[in-house]
Amino acid sequence: MENIDWKNLGFGYIKTPKRYVSNYKDGSWDTGCLTEDGTVALCESAGVLQYAQTIFEGLKAYRTVDGRLVTFRPDLNAARMVESARRLVMPPFPEQQFVDAILQTVRANADYVPPYGTGASFYLRPFMFGTDAVLGVAPATEFQFRVFGTPAGPYFRGGAKPISIRVTDYDRAAPHGTGHIKAGLNYAMSLYAIEEAHKLGFTENLYLDSATRTYVEETGGANFIFITKDGKLVTPKSDTILPSVCRRSLMHVAAYILGMEVEERHITLDEVRDMAECGLCGTAAVLSPVGRIHDHGKDILLPSGMEKMGPVCQELYDTLTGIQYGRIEGPEGWIREVEL
Ligand SMILES: *Cc1c(COP(=O)(O)O)cnc(C)c1O
Repeated sequence: MENIDWKNLGFGYIKTPKRYVSNYKDGSWDTGCLTEDGTVALCESAGVLQYAQTIFEGLKAYRTVDGRLVTFRPDLNAARMVESARRLVMPPFPEQQFVDAILQTVRANADYVPPYGTGASFYLRPFMFGTDAVLGVAPATEFQFRVFGTPAGPYFRGGAKPISIRVTDYDRAAPHGTGHIKAGLNYAMSLYAIEEAHKLGFTENLYLDSATRTYVEETGGANFIFITKDGKLVTPKSDTILPSVCRRSLMHVAAYILGMEVEERHITLDEVRDMAECGLCGTAAVLSPVGRIHDHGKDILLPSGMEKMGPVCQELYDTLTGIQYGRIEGPEGWIREVEL
């Protein structure tokens, strides 16, 4: 659209013309359709309002170097949303219908997908919530699934400049809790900690495992990857972190395209002192380099420094974004083209 300044987009909601809606009632999802109505009217006692019965996903559509419209691995978001739904006693949204909803939403808002070369993309937000009245604690019986999209610039202001984060004393996820699903409830309770981090000058919180406070988990909304001094990619293994599509894709890129050794295992905070590079990965930011980790009065300064992304993270970033923007051929099935 002519009135959008593609190069200076932030990460915020910009209303686009069409969104997808499907409703669940009497045991099944309807066929779903696109609508222009971006508001939701609900009973005041709706399950989502009273007991936070809501889950979401996040993925992007890109305009490629040769002008195609593509999405990146939407099938993984569909599958993950099924897992989230199960954990919050919501009816799984059919995976094929999920992918179709994504493609329809992109196609209907194609003018809002930023042009190639601007560094921006089209962020898609699928979500689902309980709509009928509950008062005693119980799952809702009626649900709505929606997908809207919005043009988005890079998630972290200042682009790929290394960030400072801090080790927080707050917990994100309990053992056997809900840390592995993408639910609003995990974010509601992280707001206090992130506000506090921002006030103290840090971009994000590093959460440790809440059982032993020994192992690195993730930040509020992104997984960690580390590069060791001998060039291995290591990433935390934990049942209480969200299985990031971006992290899983970077692991594959590292192992099968860049020929690196990749390890998914417990990583103690102590070990982080010996890492060469650290990055945060998630759809919104792809890979944000971390230059400094503040831990209770002491700093871990990554050798990659505060000026630019370390060389290995840069190579991973260039390869993955190269696949997303169509400059590099990706593994089979990673790119789903939106036919216009
Ligand atoms: C969404 C999310 C991520 C990143 O996942 P991607 O699939 O790569 O976008 C990481 N951690 C948390 C807690 C998340 O909610």
